[in-house]
Amino acid sequence: MGDAWDLIVVGAGPAGAATALGALSADPRLRVLILDRAAFPRDKACGDGVSPDVTDMLAVLGAPGLLDDWAPVRRLELSHGERRVSRPMRRSVRVVPRTVLDHRLLTAAVDAGARFEQRRVRAVRPRGDVVIVDDDLAGRVVVGADGAYSVVRRVAGVPAVRRRALALRGYVVTPPKWSGRQVIAFDPEHRQAYAWCFDRGDGLANVGYGAFHTDGVSRAVLLRQLGELLPGADGGTDWRGHHLPLSSWRWPQPDGQLLLAGDAAGLINPMTGEGLHYAVATGALAGRAAAAAVTARRPETAGARHRMAVRALLGRHLRHTATAARLSAVPAVLMAGVTAADRDQHVFDDLVDLGLGQGRLTRRVLVGLARALTVR
Ligand SMILES: Cc1cc2nc3c(=O)[nH]c(=O)nc-3n(C[C@H](O)[C@H](O)[C@H](O)COP(=O)(O)OP(=O)(O)OC[C@H]3O[C@@H](n4cnc5c(N)ncnc54)[C@H](O)[C@@H]3O)c2cc1C
Repeated sequence: MGDAWDLIVVGAGPAGAATALGALSADPRLRVLILDRAAFPRDKACGDGVSPDVTDMLAVLGAPGLLDDWAPVRRLELSHGERRVSRPMRRSVRVVPRTVLDHRLLTAAVDAGARFEQRRVRAVRPRGDVVIVDDDLAGRVVVGADGAYSVVRRVAGVPAVRRRALALRGYVVTPPKWSGRQVIAFDPEHRQAYAWCFDRGDGLANVGYGAFHTDGVSRAVLLRQLGELLPGADGGTDWRGHHLPLSSWRWPQPDGQLLLAGDAAGLINPMTGEGLHYAVATGALAGRAAAAAVTARRPETAGARHRMAVRALLGRHLRHTATAARLSAVPAVLMAGVTAADRDQHVFDDLVDLGLGQGRLTRRVLVGLARALTVR
């Protein structure tokens, strides 16, 4: 076994790349190794919706303008049966295939000084003041950015995420009626399920269906329900499904040298299924926590540093999204949300912040909901 790496990152998705960028922007001299079982570019099941917070964070991490060549998408359309709202978002999102996004992020991490190696990690074992990976690598800190089925999470002793959604995505030629917009159609027949069509702006659109209750759900069921809600969207190609580990009221991160980020940390918005922004945010924080702990020659403090930083940034937001997810599981409340967003641009903006960013359940959202529930 050679010298210990300062930081080993398991998983080279957005959380892993952001971890490396976070560490190297804090201290460019650190020796950082990123491992992924896949060769890049690689695909990943996703709606490909990249919120503006992601591009902001990447700029801070030293990767500005990474997605500038992808068309900004401003309009968001939400519907539940006959209720519908179509409004411009305060800031544009971009819809970027993960083969492109993840490859660019990993390239930025390598350009910043990280080393990438293709390898499926099978074993992670803390030993003394280092963590041994697969018997032949040692890291002072190891970050698990290895997604929804994380090996590192299990070794760190963090219980499996309790609530998981299941979603399927494909690509279609963008139908003109869905051009230049993100369309989300909540399923009136199934609680906490929706179909989407997100225009990429290059002639194709990402389409899919996500179910937050997964009993009896199969690929055939997801496709059928997608076709029922957005006729034509089920005629796409490149279908790929994946689980979404949904965040809850509390966010666990143990002390020590094993840190978690992104899906491995169980961070997907339980209302919307958004996870890229949490992946980049918590990856960056994990990288900085690792850098601070290694620089202080106290790698065992990395876990506590990371926990404090993530809770400071997201703790309150996570409690609000957990509450909002419970509320929106009630169809009448969901419909009231669509109505309230249609009546008031500010309510719409606040709901977008809650679903795609770090927003809260604001007073005007609650008042809008109450009005929509009582005044028809
Ligand atoms: C269908 C669907 C639609 C979605 N739509 C959106 C959306 O529109 N917007 C949004 O923000 N979020 C969306 N999400 C959520 C988003 O895809 C995830 O939150 C995001 O991918 C998390 O990034 P990550 O880096 O944590 O994990 P991942 O992107 O899953 O990356 C994990 C990496 O770890 C690697 N890995 C795993 N195990 C090992 C191992 N043992 N050894 C080595 N490498 C390993 C994998 O190969 C992978 O590259 C969607 C999810 C799904 C399933």
